Amino acid sequence: MDLNLTSFASKKEDNQKKIEKVLILGAGPAGLSAALYAARAELNPLVLIGSDLGGQASLTYTIENYPGFPEGVGGPELGELFKKQAEHFGARFEYELATEVDFSRRPFVVKTYSGEIQAESVIITTGASPNHLNIPGEKELTGRGVSYCATCDGWFFKEKKLLVIGGGDSALEEAIFLTRFASSVTIVHRRDELRAGAILQRRAKENPKINFIWDTVPEEILGKDGVEEVRLRNVKTGEGSTFAADGVFIFVGHTPNTQIFKGQVDMDSKGYIQTDLTMTTNVPGVFAAGEVMDSHYRQVVTSAGMGAAAAIQAGRYLEEHSLEKLALEE
Ligand code: NAP
Repeated sequence: MDLNLTSFASKKEDNQKKIEKVLILGAGPAGLSAALYAARAELNPLVLIGSDLGGQASLTYTIENYPGFPEGVGGPELGELFKKQAEHFGARFEYELATEVDFSRRPFVVKTYSGEIQAESVIITTGASPNHLNIPGEKELTGRGVSYCATCDGWFFKEKKLLVIGGGDSALEEAIFLTRFASSVTIVHRRDELRAGAILQRRAKENPKINFIWDTVPEEILGKDGVEEVRLRNVKTGEGSTFAADGVFIFVGHTPNTQIFKGQVDMDSKGYIQTDLTMTTNVPGVFAAGEVMDSHYRQVVTSAGMGAAAAIQAGRYLEEHSLEKLALEE
């Protein structure tokens, strides 16, 4: 890496205010927890919130497995609490989206829609986004009956008939939530065994409003101004059928939000950023935490823990490698 120390030293006076010590990209549980730890280490972190404060957790109605909340806590509320706590210790937040990064030299450069930010260290916590099925009708009817967020859209389906696609924790959790509104919720899964954990499986199977269609995939979503029916195919028999429904909620996994980091940090074949146990990427000074690098656990508590670890590690890194220290040693 080209350490631009001479120019750093000569422009130090001008740039000092502009070079962030710790820049955090994303404000889900990992980013917000990193902000808290970096703030408490007096690193004055700047967080670019991106599109959603609280990340995917903010789309969850109630989070029942984050420690310290025996009655559960609302997803949006938890994000606000995390932010408030980080702000209390000096973290700064901006509603900005990173559009391009250059990690080939220090200070690192992150471009946004409104300018450019230089940083001595960067913590990537941009999370993951829901996968699409990419079947006919899905895109056309998104927002008109096709949804990826029960908390956001469930209310619109009072006494309606809904399909949920997927057999993981998200599909079951959201299906159970949707029974608050819908007259019935039918879960369509491509196998005859659910991927979701035992508690959610039991709750879903015991819910009188929930039915299952096994070994089946959706092939087309049909409707003029809204969803009217879904064309299904049994993957074992090849048999086709149609199912009349007012809405389709799709929960078929996630893809990490790493497009802008391609060629800048190492990733696996699915685009998850690779780090070592200290959350450090292959670029010293660049760290990653949460769902942007973790496809296994994907829990609020694990992401928050990883965010804390990344911030601690960023602090340790800056103790040895701050640009100011390196310039003085020149
Ligand atoms: P997931 O575990 O990857 O499950 C995705 C589901 O969608 C699977 O059942 C999969 O089928 C199905 N699927 C994938 N592609 C499909 C396609 N093209 N057509 C039809 N079906 C398709 O994703 P997730 O449910 O979002 O969960 C992700 C992670 O978050 C997991 O680790 C989960 O434990 C965690 N999570 C936890 C909670 C909680 O603890 N309360 C809540 C939500 C999520 P197969 O099973 O056949 O692969």
